[in-house]
Amino acid sequence: MKKYLLILSLTGFLLVNCCNMRKQKADFILYNAKIYTVDSVLTVAEAMAVKNGKVLASGSARDIFEQFNSGTQYNAGGKPVFPGFIDAHCHFYGYALNFRHVALNGCTSFAQVIERLKKSGEYKQGEWIVGRGWDQNQWKEKVFPDRKRLDEIYPDNPVVLTRIDGHVVLANNRALELAGIDIHHSFNTGEVEIRHGSLTGILSETVADHMKNTVPKPSLEEQGRLLHLAREKCFEAGLTTVSDAGLGAETVGMLDSMSSGGDSSFMIRIYAMLEPSRDNIDRYVRNGPYLTARLHVNSVKVYADGSMGSRTALMKQVYSDMPCIHGIQVITADSLRKICHLCLENGYQVNTHAIGDSANKLVLDIYGEFLKEQNDLRWRIEHCQVVDPADLYKFRKFSIIPSVQATHATSDMAWAEDRLGPERVKWAYAYKKLLQQNGWLANGTDFPIENISPVNTFYAAVARKDIKGNPEGGFQADNALSREEALRSITIWAAMADLWDNEIGSLEPGKNADFVILDQDIMQVDIITVPKTLVLETFVGGHSVYKRFQNP
Ligand SMILES: [Zn+2]
Repeated sequence: MKKYLLILSLTGFLLVNCCNMRKQKADFILYNAKIYTVDSVLTVAEAMAVKNGKVLASGSARDIFEQFNSGTQYNAGGKPVFPGFIDAHCHFYGYALNFRHVALNGCTSFAQVIERLKKSGEYKQGEWIVGRGWDQNQWKEKVFPDRKRLDEIYPDNPVVLTRIDGHVVLANNRALELAGIDIHHSFNTGEVEIRHGSLTGILSETVADHMKNTVPKPSLEEQGRLLHLAREKCFEAGLTTVSDAGLGAETVGMLDSMSSGGDSSFMIRIYAMLEPSRDNIDRYVRNGPYLTARLHVNSVKVYADGSMGSRTALMKQVYSDMPCIHGIQVITADSLRKICHLCLENGYQVNTHAIGDSANKLVLDIYGEFLKEQNDLRWRIEHCQVVDPADLYKFRKFSIIPSVQATHATSDMAWAEDRLGPERVKWAYAYKKLLQQNGWLANGTDFPIENISPVNTFYAAVARKDIKGNPEGGFQADNALSREEALRSITIWAAMADLWDNEIGSLEPGKNADFVILDQDIMQVDIITVPKTLVLETFVGGHSVYKRFQNP
């Protein structure tokens, strides 16, 4: 009997030992979680093992603890876990620089803009005053302001105030002088406003860019500080990857040194779209894609037109509320062709901003000349706000990826019909129809134009309502996305649009352990409560980079 027991316990010991030996070592195991892996069938797992910053496996808690060994275990408290959110189109660097600008968002009149400037501080003589975020559509008069009041209050300070969409600025006289912009220049049509023979200070597109470039940049040290601040805000919102839509080589170089070794705390992943400047082309494009663990440079961002809010988006027919203009084409067909050719030769994506239906047609047709048929190059159109139904099929024909911003629909819905009229507005913000072309699309925010929250993007895509829950029934609700589609559009589809889906976008074995823990399940709760969702913790490459509540 004793002997029998001994053999039994010995067998038990051997068995346990064998299992331990067979168990793989993990750096940590996340358990008691509801993990949306966002794999092809949307598997939900209870636990996940992570090693060297990568997902080893996910599954039931039993399976994971049976297969893996780890001294470190994270209890997710039964909360939902999602892949780190990806913003497929934003302006991360611009957002960072904005921290030193006067915020003009939400001003309900130009008088309030002036008030905010006055309250923003005392300025030394000659010091630049820079603001961003005004939107005349939120004012009673709904017309562009002019520089008169700014000239009266700030005769010796250059003042530059960027409109919410970034396509239009208001500059005072001193700023115009410093930028060398005067009435004697020849301007592209529609890029300046002239009244009684003088400039009103309203500048758009290339002239606006020139004005913005005249504003002195902060020192490199200051830029670094602002970028850290921006990164923290992203982690707090659950973003682990940002796709910056248009950067110069100098900025890309700075981000590169911050994210690789030079500054190991700068953990955010950045898909950097290049501006099509000579410098960028020589330093990057002609040398092929430049890819590190946290920085991907393999795309060029081009503008085809302006924005709808400022009536610079290029339309086939005139604007309904200003029947003398069509908007502005900001690139010639031949220049776009040259960029497409260069990118195709060097393995780069082309991502073109197109908002009006004429701009979308132009880009679809030119892409088509190069792509010719279905392909996996993932050339993108950014925004796709108004697409003529007659052109829609070209997205599928040439596998062109729509990169949209769901919150634009709910921000613009109050005045979109004024611009477009009752018929054309039906084609606008048609995300479901765009999705149906290739079976997927990418979603983002275009921050700082919109709030950075990916949860708000999810909500706007599904509910088609603003934060206050308006309108009842949703804006053009037939173009709403399902929750699964909305989730994919800010995770795996955004990763695909960034050509980065082999490493990020889902929590599948071998991918980076970038994930977020939320306080409520956005896939289940009443959709109207989704904007209240809190990010509890954010992980990049298996490292906790943000935690809402610190352990006592
Ligand atoms: Zn943008």
